[in-house]
Amino acid sequence: QKAEWKLLKDAKSVTADGKEVILGANIGTPEDVEGANDNGAEAVGLFRSEFLYMNSAELPTEEEQFQAYKKAVEGMNGKQVVVRTMDIGGDKNLPYLPLPEEENPFLGYRAIRISLDRQDIFRTQLRALLRASNYGRLAIMFPMIATVSEFKQAKAIFEEEKAKLVAEGVAVSDDIEVGMMMEIPAAAMIADKLAKYADFFSIGTNDLIGYSMAADRGNERVSYLYQPYNPSILRIIKRVIDASHAEGKWTGMCGEMAGDQTAVPLLAGMGLDEFSMSATSILKTRSLMKKLDTTKMKELADKALDSETSEEVEALVAEYTK
Ligand code: PEP
Ligand code: MG
Repeated sequence: QKAEWKLLKDAKSVTADGKEVILGANIGTPEDVEGANDNGAEAVGLFRSEFLYMNSAELPTEEEQFQAYKKAVEGMNGKQVVVRTMDIGGDKNLPYLPLPEEENPFLGYRAIRISLDRQDIFRTQLRALLRASNYGRLAIMFPMIATVSEFKQAKAIFEEEKAKLVAEGVAVSDDIEVGMMMEIPAAAMIADKLAKYADFFSIGTNDLIGYSMAADRGNERVSYLYQPYNPSILRIIKRVIDASHAEGKWTGMCGEMAGDQTAVPLLAGMGLDEFSMSATSILKTRSLMKKLDTTKMKELADKALDSETSEEVEALVAEYTK
Protein backbone atom coordinates (compact mmCIF):
# COMPACT_ATOMS: atom_id res chain seq x y z
CA GLN A 1 0.00 0.00 0.00
CA LYS A 2 2.78 2.43 0.98
CA ALA A 3 4.58 1.49 -2.25
CA GLU A 4 1.51 2.31 -4.30
CA TRP A 5 1.23 5.67 -2.55
CA LYS A 6 4.87 6.50 -3.41
CA LEU A 7 4.13 6.06 -7.11
CA LEU A 8 1.47 8.74 -6.79
CA LYS A 9 3.85 11.40 -5.53
CA ASP A 10 4.13 13.23 -8.83
CA ALA A 11 0.73 12.22 -10.18
CA LYS A 12 -2.28 14.45 -10.49
CA SER A 13 -5.18 14.02 -8.09
CA VAL A 14 -7.90 12.62 -10.26
CA THR A 15 -11.03 10.54 -9.78
CA ALA A 16 -11.71 7.26 -11.61
CA ASP A 17 -13.74 9.19 -14.19
CA GLY A 18 -11.15 11.89 -14.72
CA LYS A 19 -12.20 14.81 -12.53
CA GLU A 20 -9.21 16.69 -11.13
CA VAL A 21 -8.98 18.16 -7.66
CA ILE A 22 -6.09 19.81 -5.84
CA LEU A 23 -4.59 18.13 -2.79
CA GLY A 24 -2.58 20.58 -0.74
CA ALA A 25 -0.69 20.65 2.52
CA ASN A 26 -1.23 22.65 5.68
CA ILE A 27 2.04 24.05 6.96
CA GLY A 28 3.11 26.00 10.01
CA THR A 29 6.64 27.12 9.08
CA PRO A 30 8.56 27.64 5.81
CA GLU A 31 10.63 24.55 6.63
CA ASP A 32 7.47 22.43 6.35
CA VAL A 33 7.50 22.99 2.59
CA GLU A 34 9.97 20.15 2.29
CA GLY A 35 7.54 17.67 3.83
CA ALA A 36 4.78 19.05 1.62
CA ASN A 37 6.84 18.40 -1.51
CA ASP A 38 8.02 14.98 -0.33
CA ASN A 39 4.40 13.97 0.11
CA GLY A 40 3.30 15.19 -3.31
CA ALA A 41 1.44 18.35 -2.32
CA GLU A 42 0.06 20.25 -5.31
CA ALA A 43 -0.22 23.42 -3.25
CA VAL A 44 -0.07 24.78 0.23
CA GLY A 45 -3.72 25.36 1.04
CA LEU A 46 -3.01 26.83 4.47
CA PHE A 47 0.17 28.40 5.72
CA ARG A 48 -0.58 29.34 9.33
CA SER A 49 1.43 32.53 9.87
CA GLU A 50 1.08 32.39 13.67
CA PHE A 51 4.49 30.79 14.17
CA LEU A 52 6.08 34.11 13.20
CA TYR A 53 4.27 35.81 16.03
CA MET A 54 4.41 33.03 18.59
CA ASN A 55 8.08 32.04 18.25
CA SER A 56 9.26 35.53 18.88
CA ALA A 57 9.77 37.82 21.86
CA GLU A 58 8.43 40.81 20.00
CA LEU A 59 6.42 41.58 16.89
CA PRO A 60 8.17 40.11 13.84
CA THR A 61 9.53 42.77 11.51
CA GLU A 62 8.43 43.18 7.91
CA GLU A 63 11.79 41.84 6.76
CA GLU A 64 11.59 38.72 8.95
CA GLN A 65 8.13 37.98 7.66
CA PHE A 66 9.13 38.68 4.08
CA GLN A 67 11.99 36.16 4.32
CA ALA A 68 9.66 33.49 5.72
CA TYR A 69 6.96 33.93 3.07
CA LYS A 70 9.55 34.15 0.30
CA LYS A 71 11.14 30.92 1.44
CA ALA A 72 7.78 29.16 1.40
CA VAL A 73 6.71 30.32 -2.08
CA GLU A 74 10.13 29.65 -3.56
CA GLY A 75 10.16 26.21 -2.01
CA MET A 76 6.86 25.35 -3.67
CA ASN A 77 8.27 26.13 -7.13
CA GLY A 78 5.33 27.95 -8.65
CA LYS A 79 2.64 25.95 -6.88
CA GLN A 80 0.15 28.07 -4.99
CA VAL A 81 0.84 28.93 -1.36
CA VAL A 82 -2.15 30.33 0.56
CA VAL A 83 -0.91 32.33 3.53
CA ARG A 84 -3.46 33.06 6.20
CA THR A 85 -3.00 36.39 7.95
CA MET A 86 -2.46 36.41 11.70
CA ASP A 87 -4.95 34.26 13.61
CA ILE A 88 -4.06 35.20 17.18
CA GLY A 89 -6.56 35.22 20.02
CA GLY A 90 -8.92 32.45 21.07
CA ASP A 91 -6.42 30.13 22.75
CA LYS A 92 -3.32 31.68 21.11
CA ASN A 93 -1.79 34.53 23.06
CA LEU A 94 1.30 36.65 22.56
CA PRO A 95 3.54 37.79 25.42
CA TYR A 96 4.14 41.21 23.83
CA LEU A 97 0.53 41.81 22.78
CA PRO A 98 -1.54 41.66 25.93
CA LEU A 99 -5.09 40.76 25.02
CA PRO A 100 -7.93 41.64 27.37
CA GLU A 101 -9.19 38.90 29.69
CA GLU A 102 -12.40 37.66 28.13
CA GLU A 103 -15.19 35.40 29.30
CA ASN A 104 -15.45 33.82 25.86
CA PRO A 105 -12.14 34.14 24.03
CA PHE A 106 -13.44 32.07 21.11
CA LEU A 107 -16.21 34.60 20.64
CA GLY A 108 -13.91 37.48 21.29
CA TYR A 109 -11.08 39.60 20.06
CA ARG A 110 -9.17 37.38 17.64
CA ALA A 111 -7.86 36.96 14.09
CA ILE A 112 -9.15 39.52 11.56
CA ARG A 113 -10.81 41.41 14.39
CA ILE A 114 -7.40 42.18 15.87
CA SER A 115 -5.93 42.88 12.43
CA LEU A 116 -8.59 45.46 11.57
CA ASP A 117 -8.13 47.09 14.97
CA ARG A 118 -4.32 46.97 15.07
CA GLN A 119 -3.71 48.06 11.51
CA ASP A 120 -0.06 48.72 12.23
CA ILE A 121 0.46 44.97 12.72
CA PHE A 122 -1.79 44.04 9.79
CA ARG A 123 -0.19 46.44 7.32
CA THR A 124 3.28 45.18 8.18
CA GLN A 125 2.18 41.64 7.45
CA LEU A 126 0.49 42.59 4.19
CA ARG A 127 3.58 44.45 2.98
CA ALA A 128 5.74 41.42 3.71
CA LEU A 129 3.29 39.20 1.83
CA LEU A 130 3.09 41.58 -1.13
CA ARG A 131 6.86 41.69 -1.43
CA ALA A 132 7.08 37.90 -1.26
CA SER A 133 4.44 37.55 -3.99
CA ASN A 134 7.10 38.37 -6.55
CA TYR A 135 8.92 35.09 -5.83
CA GLY A 136 6.25 32.50 -6.56
CA ARG A 137 2.50 31.97 -6.54
CA LEU A 138 1.24 33.52 -3.35
CA ALA A 139 -2.36 33.87 -2.24
CA ILE A 140 -3.67 35.50 0.91
CA MET A 141 -6.67 34.71 3.07
CA PHE A 142 -8.22 36.37 6.08
CA PRO A 143 -9.29 34.27 9.10
CA MET A 144 -12.60 34.56 10.96
CA ILE A 145 -14.43 36.79 8.51
CA ALA A 146 -18.05 37.17 9.67
CA THR A 147 -19.39 39.98 7.48
CA VAL A 148 -19.08 41.51 4.02
CA SER A 149 -17.80 44.75 5.48
CA GLU A 150 -14.95 43.02 7.32
CA PHE A 151 -13.83 41.43 4.09
CA LYS A 152 -14.10 44.70 2.19
CA GLN A 153 -12.13 46.56 4.86
CA ALA A 154 -9.37 43.96 4.91
CA LYS A 155 -9.22 43.89 1.11
CA ALA A 156 -9.12 47.72 0.94
CA ILE A 157 -6.16 47.81 3.33
CA PHE A 158 -4.44 45.19 1.18
CA GLU A 159 -5.03 47.33 -1.93
CA GLU A 160 -3.68 50.42 -0.17
CA GLU A 161 -0.47 48.69 0.83
CA LYS A 162 -0.12 47.26 -2.65
CA ALA A 163 -0.50 50.71 -4.23
CA LYS A 164 2.07 52.15 -1.80
CA LEU A 165 4.62 49.48 -2.66
CA VAL A 166 4.06 49.92 -6.37
CA ALA A 167 4.53 53.68 -5.96
CA GLU A 168 7.80 52.96 -4.15
CA GLY A 169 8.92 50.91 -7.13
CA VAL A 170 8.79 47.55 -5.33
CA ALA A 171 7.96 44.56 -7.53
CA VAL A 172 4.72 42.84 -6.53
CA SER A 173 2.76 40.19 -8.37
CA ASP A 174 -0.29 41.42 -10.21
CA ASP A 175 -2.38 38.32 -9.66
CA ILE A 176 -2.49 37.59 -5.97
CA GLU A 177 -5.72 35.84 -5.12
CA VAL A 178 -7.31 37.28 -1.97
CA GLY A 179 -9.75 34.96 -0.26
CA MET A 180 -11.15 34.19 3.16
CA MET A 181 -11.55 31.42 5.66
CA MET A 182 -15.13 30.25 5.93
CA GLU A 183 -15.43 29.27 9.57
CA ILE A 184 -18.29 31.34 10.96
CA PRO A 185 -21.84 30.12 10.24
CA ALA A 186 -23.11 33.68 9.67
CA ALA A 187 -20.58 34.10 6.87
CA ALA A 188 -21.68 30.82 5.31
CA MET A 189 -25.26 32.11 5.21
CA ILE A 190 -24.13 35.06 3.08
CA ALA A 191 -21.55 33.13 1.09
CA ASP A 192 -23.29 34.28 -2.11
CA LYS A 193 -22.60 37.89 -1.15
CA LEU A 194 -19.04 37.25 0.04
CA ALA A 195 -18.29 35.35 -3.17
CA LYS A 196 -18.66 38.59 -5.10
CA TYR A 197 -15.59 39.98 -3.32
CA ALA A 198 -13.46 37.03 -2.26
CA ASP A 199 -11.43 35.21 -4.92
CA PHE A 200 -11.88 31.94 -3.04
CA PHE A 201 -13.13 30.39 0.17
CA SER A 202 -11.27 27.97 2.40
CA ILE A 203 -13.55 26.17 4.80
CA GLY A 204 -12.09 25.95 8.29
CA THR A 205 -14.07 23.06 9.67
CA ASN A 206 -12.24 22.99 12.99
CA ASP A 207 -13.85 26.24 13.99
CA LEU A 208 -16.90 26.01 11.73
CA ILE A 209 -18.16 22.78 13.32
CA GLY A 210 -17.58 24.11 16.82
CA TYR A 211 -19.42 27.35 16.14
CA SER A 212 -22.25 25.63 14.27
CA MET A 213 -22.88 23.03 16.94
CA ALA A 214 -22.06 25.44 19.78
CA ALA A 215 -19.83 22.70 21.15
CA ASP A 216 -16.17 22.69 22.12
CA ARG A 217 -14.55 19.49 20.99
CA GLY A 218 -12.08 19.73 23.86
CA ASN A 219 -14.92 19.54 26.37
CA GLU A 220 -15.58 15.85 27.05
CA ARG A 221 -19.16 16.37 28.07
CA VAL A 222 -20.17 17.91 24.76
CA SER A 223 -17.56 16.58 22.35
CA TYR A 224 -20.10 14.07 21.00
CA LEU A 225 -21.69 17.04 19.27
CA TYR A 226 -18.59 17.66 17.24
CA GLN A 227 -19.98 15.87 14.18
CA PRO A 228 -18.31 16.57 10.82
CA TYR A 229 -20.77 14.28 9.00
CA ASN A 230 -23.91 15.72 10.50
CA PRO A 231 -26.20 16.78 7.62
CA SER A 232 -26.30 20.27 9.16
CA ILE A 233 -22.56 20.66 8.66
CA LEU A 234 -22.70 19.08 5.20
CA ARG A 235 -25.44 21.52 4.18
CA ILE A 236 -23.34 24.48 5.29
CA ILE A 237 -20.39 23.18 3.30
CA LYS A 238 -22.56 22.57 0.22
CA ARG A 239 -23.98 26.06 0.43
CA VAL A 240 -20.50 27.59 0.52
CA ILE A 241 -19.22 25.53 -2.41
CA ASP A 242 -22.29 26.32 -4.55
CA ALA A 243 -22.08 30.03 -3.73
CA SER A 244 -18.46 30.20 -4.84
CA HIS A 245 -19.11 28.30 -8.06
CA ALA A 246 -22.06 30.56 -8.94
CA GLU A 247 -19.56 33.45 -9.01
CA GLY A 248 -16.90 31.48 -10.88
CA LYS A 249 -14.77 31.17 -7.74
CA TRP A 250 -13.34 28.10 -6.01
CA THR A 251 -13.66 26.57 -2.57
CA GLY A 252 -11.07 24.67 -0.62
CA MET A 253 -11.08 23.18 2.83
CA CYS A 254 -8.22 23.41 5.30
CA GLY A 255 -9.80 22.02 8.47
CA GLU A 256 -9.09 18.46 9.66
CA MET A 257 -12.12 17.21 7.78
CA ALA A 258 -10.40 17.70 4.40
CA GLY A 259 -8.09 14.75 5.05
CA ASP A 260 -10.68 12.52 6.69
CA GLN A 261 -11.15 9.45 4.50
CA THR A 262 -14.84 9.18 5.32
CA ALA A 263 -15.45 12.83 4.48
CA VAL A 264 -13.49 12.89 1.21
CA PRO A 265 -16.12 11.16 -1.00
CA LEU A 266 -18.82 13.43 0.46
CA LEU A 267 -16.76 16.57 -0.11
CA ALA A 268 -15.77 15.55 -3.63
CA GLY A 269 -19.41 14.71 -4.32
CA MET A 270 -20.39 18.22 -3.26
CA GLY A 271 -17.82 19.68 -5.67
CA LEU A 272 -15.04 20.78 -3.31
CA ASP A 273 -12.14 22.02 -5.48
CA GLU A 274 -9.19 21.85 -3.11
CA PHE A 275 -8.42 19.69 -0.06
CA SER A 276 -5.67 20.89 2.24
CA MET A 277 -4.45 18.57 4.97
CA SER A 278 -1.42 17.46 6.92
CA ALA A 279 1.18 16.43 4.36
CA THR A 280 1.22 12.82 5.54
CA SER A 281 -2.42 12.33 4.47
CA ILE A 282 -1.99 13.48 0.87
CA LEU A 283 -0.85 10.28 -0.86
CA LYS A 284 -3.43 8.18 0.93
CA THR A 285 -6.12 10.61 -0.21
CA ARG A 286 -4.83 10.68 -3.80
CA SER A 287 -5.01 6.90 -3.82
CA LEU A 288 -8.59 6.97 -2.52
CA MET A 289 -9.57 9.60 -5.08
CA LYS A 290 -8.50 7.32 -7.93
CA LYS A 291 -11.13 4.78 -6.90
CA LEU A 292 -14.01 7.23 -6.67
CA ASP A 293 -16.54 8.12 -9.35
CA THR A 294 -17.96 11.63 -9.63
CA THR A 295 -21.53 10.67 -10.50
CA LYS A 296 -21.73 8.13 -7.69
CA MET A 297 -20.19 10.55 -5.20
CA LYS A 298 -22.74 13.17 -6.18
CA GLU A 299 -25.54 10.67 -5.52
CA LEU A 300 -23.91 9.79 -2.21
CA ALA A 301 -23.64 13.46 -1.22
CA ASP A 302 -27.28 14.12 -2.16
CA LYS A 303 -28.41 11.23 0.05
CA ALA A 304 -26.17 12.41 2.87
CA LEU A 305 -27.53 15.95 2.65
CA ASP A 306 -31.02 14.51 2.95
CA SER A 307 -30.19 12.29 5.95
CA GLU A 308 -31.16 12.89 9.55
CA THR A 309 -28.08 11.90 11.49
CA SER A 310 -24.34 11.66 11.35
CA GLU A 311 -24.54 7.88 11.85
CA GLU A 312 -26.79 7.52 8.81
CA VAL A 313 -24.27 9.44 6.73
CA GLU A 314 -21.38 7.31 7.95
CA ALA A 315 -23.30 4.19 7.01
CA LEU A 316 -23.94 5.57 3.52
CA VAL A 317 -20.26 6.26 2.99
CA ALA A 318 -19.26 2.86 4.34
CA GLU A 319 -21.68 1.23 1.93
CA TYR A 320 -20.30 3.24 -0.99
CA THR A 321 -16.59 2.70 -0.28
CA LYS A 322 -16.90 -0.97 0.63
C1 PEP B 1 -10.05 25.71 11.06
O1 PEP B 1 -10.65 26.40 11.87
O2 PEP B 1 -10.52 24.70 10.51
C2 PEP B 1 -8.66 26.05 10.68
C3 PEP B 1 -8.04 25.44 9.70
O3 PEP B 1 -8.06 27.00 11.44
P1 PEP B 1 -7.30 26.68 12.79
O4 PEP B 1 -7.37 25.21 13.01
O5 PEP B 1 -5.92 27.20 12.57
O6 PEP B 1 -8.11 27.51 13.73
MG1 MG C 1 -9.84 28.34 12.51
